[in-house]
Amino acid sequence: MAQSLLDFRRDEITETLDADVCVIGAGAVGIALAREFINTSHRVLMLDCGGEDFDDDADALNRMEVVGLNPRNRPDEGSRLRQLGGTTNHWGGWNRPFSDDVLKSWPLRKGELNRYYDRTRTYLDLETGPFDELSAWLREPDQYLPDLNPWLDVVVRQIRALRAWPFYKKNLLSADNLRILTHASVQDLQFSESGGRVDSALAVTLPPRSRRVEIRAKAFIVCCGGLENPTLLLNIDRQSNGVLSAKTGALGRYYMDHAELSYDLLPFSCFMPVMKYRIENHGRGVEYLHVRPSWSLSAEAGTRWMPHALTADFHTQCTYRTKWEYENLHEMVKRPDANFDLPGKANPDAKIEFTGGLMNFGWTPVEDSRITLSEAQNSIGHQVGRLDWRISEEDVSHVQLLAQRLEQSLGASGFGRLRLGDNLLKRGLLTAEGRVYNGNHHMGATRMSLDPQNGVVDQNCRHHGVDNLYVAGASVFPTYDWPGPTFTAVALAIRLADHLKSVI
Ligand SMILES: Cc1cc2nc3c(=O)[nH]c(=O)nc-3n(C[C@H](O)[C@H](O)[C@H](O)COP(=O)(O)OP(=O)(O)OC[C@H]3O[C@@H](n4cnc5c(N)ncnc54)[C@H](O)[C@@H]3O)c2cc1C
Repeated sequence: MAQSLLDFRRDEITETLDADVCVIGAGAVGIALAREFINTSHRVLMLDCGGEDFDDDADALNRMEVVGLNPRNRPDEGSRLRQLGGTTNHWGGWNRPFSDDVLKSWPLRKGELNRYYDRTRTYLDLETGPFDELSAWLREPDQYLPDLNPWLDVVVRQIRALRAWPFYKKNLLSADNLRILTHASVQDLQFSESGGRVDSALAVTLPPRSRRVEIRAKAFIVCCGGLENPTLLLNIDRQSNGVLSAKTGALGRYYMDHAELSYDLLPFSCFMPVMKYRIENHGRGVEYLHVRPSWSLSAEAGTRWMPHALTADFHTQCTYRTKWEYENLHEMVKRPDANFDLPGKANPDAKIEFTGGLMNFGWTPVEDSRITLSEAQNSIGHQVGRLDWRISEEDVSHVQLLAQRLEQSLGASGFGRLRLGDNLLKRGLLTAEGRVYNGNHHMGATRMSLDPQNGVVDQNCRHHGVDNLYVAGASVFPTYDWPGPTFTAVALAIRLADHLKSVI
């Protein structure tokens, strides 16, 4: 293959491109999928509406209307990036698999994701071996995180903010069965007469050039991120008189995110070393892999307090009392080169007065928490998405109870004093405007289900009504856990690649 990285704004492209697999979106998930086809006989075309660098015009396509739960940080802006590597260009890289308890409600066989989790670790350049063994390496956290049994367990994450495009660029460009088309936004899909198959995808450049190209393939995989997967499919559905919603009942519904609540903690003993954990990466001398311990709700506490599948984690991070506000951080993370973990850089004079953190929950999915289309149009003629994010009132009561228990447990253990915000103490305030943070983790709005009425895709991430249309990413999660979604979204994408290799 002559040239594997094509720029649709600049390069001469014939009107039709042919491939076996068309991967739409080159973020963490799209790149993981495309990589799985390297050295196979399948011809893959991966396209992305951005290029190698951040681009304001492509970024403008992210804007949505936000109604309903209105978090302090807007979920549409700064929460994702439109460029090769997608949002990994500024993600935090906190990784941990979902628990078996959460996955048991998914239409997967018990333990099925484990071997894909192993391959995900390789893809994200993490340590191999069971996550729990990491706890063994980290004897010390017990000195800093008190044992609050039976309510809270000490858990760990591996932190490695892998930027998927620079990390895999050479690998991807050297594959002779893979082409990557940049600055190409998928605008529509053309369906067969019965509506049961996608014949081709139409991609456009942004104005003023507005070129179009048709891509024919045997399978199309939408990997545009948790907000854009449903928004794109809703636009295509509107343009095709309901082909995508005819046989499914949940397109755009059950939208979920980690609604995070802040707390302040005044520890009586030294707490900050918890922030500093690093491990030597088996002699490779790697310094970047951090392991961060935090508390998560124990199974016992979960059963007693959280009967509605709510899971929780309390992670610690430094809170800067002077000048530093989350809004600044939000402005910073809008740029791809921002270092999400180093607020001190932006505010070197800030004093660490106390430690704080975020309580991070896996909330119960709510059917009316959803993405629809607004009247406004963007530059590629799509109707802008409208996000109406909701969390369950029942969960809110449980969270308040849980927060009070945590406050009491920490005090009784002699560890420190927890200061809870008004939002956790006064009923009704938690869901008020600006009280929660969205976790930048967009999930659920093209959910997986065996029943088409409750979902959009089946257990193989295939659209229920269209044979060769697949969706990959956190938007297919039917429920979720407190850890970030990327580790599990990538595991599902690798599983999907295996499935596709067996059917096309
Ligand atoms: C500040 C921040 C910190 C985060 N930290 C963590 C963390 O610690 N742990 C964790 O698990 N997750 C974290 N996340 C979330 C994580 O970044 C996402 O879960 C992950 O990047 C999603 O991968 P994706 O490939 O599904 O989507 P994306 O990475 O968003 O990629 C989607 C790609 O699709 C392209 N695209 C969109 N629409 C079209 C179209 N119509 N045509 C063609 N291409 C299109 C976009 O340009 C983009 O490149 C964080 C997010 C943010 C913003």
